[in-house]
Amino acid sequence: MTHDTELGLRYAVGTDLGLHREVNEDSAYASPRLLAVADGMGGHAHGEVASSIAVAAMAKLDDRLAATDRQGVDPLAALAGAVSAIARRLAEVADQEPQLRGMGTTLTALLPFGPGFAVAHLGDSRGYLLRGGELRQLTHDHTLVQALVDDGQLPREQAAQHPRRSMLMKALQSTGSGEPDLFLHQAATGDRYLLCSDGLTDVTPDEDVRGALAEAADPDAAVRQLIELANRAGGPDNITCVVVDVRDRPSGRGGRRIVRGAAEGTVDVRTSRLPGWLRRLLAQA
Ligand code: MG
Repeated sequence: MTHDTELGLRYAVGTDLGLHREVNEDSAYASPRLLAVADGMGGHAHGEVASSIAVAAMAKLDDRLAATDRQGVDPLAALAGAVSAIARRLAEVADQEPQLRGMGTTLTALLPFGPGFAVAHLGDSRGYLLRGGELRQLTHDHTLVQALVDDGQLPREQAAQHPRRSMLMKALQSTGSGEPDLFLHQAATGDRYLLCSDGLTDVTPDEDVRGALAEAADPDAAVRQLIELANRAGGPDNITCVVVDVRDRPSGRGGRRIVRGAAEGTVDVRTSRLPGWLRRLLAQA
């Protein structure tokens, strides 16, 4: 199988219910060709279904990337296509199942390409880069609070405490999806990337995220440490992290991991009332 990324990647994925939620609505995806975090929204409207639909689309795109010679692939167009497919699927599914109307999900995805990544981002999950000991946020939150900060109406220092900080300006939703941010990012050997849901960043200051990423020996240790930090800070929301190291040699190999919070966490009784095809979608791994 061709795998023409020039990057050697090592990655780990983890999700946790947190300390206050009954259902884990987050999902994540990781393979050598695609890495993503999706944070489902709409507690009563099955956020876990929405985030599962997002990672199912990631798996589909990954299959295509694995099966094709990627020289002809436009990575940003490929991600844009996957985002549109998620938007269509959310609308279709909500049409078939009125109880799912109003569900939605964020998506932050990295597609390794050449010496870097193509990035797709929609919502308030985040992508970070640790390089040379410095933490840099690669994505821009699509939240009301971020818009107020950008507009100069809210001091940056107050954003983290704002009572409406989780209000999204756009996301992938069954009732209509926003356009994703799509961009290319140049990677370097030694980079460590983090994709995470807001269950981490809402309660963990950047400096603590930086420290955990800088100190962890490998991606697996980093994921565990970050989840622990969020839970120590109260764990008010589901926490999902994908940590990726860029190494000097491409391996082109590495397992595929699909994490569906709903499947890994406590059993959601509501899920069992869903039609078979939807239960299969949620159970698919
Ligand atoms: Mg969340």
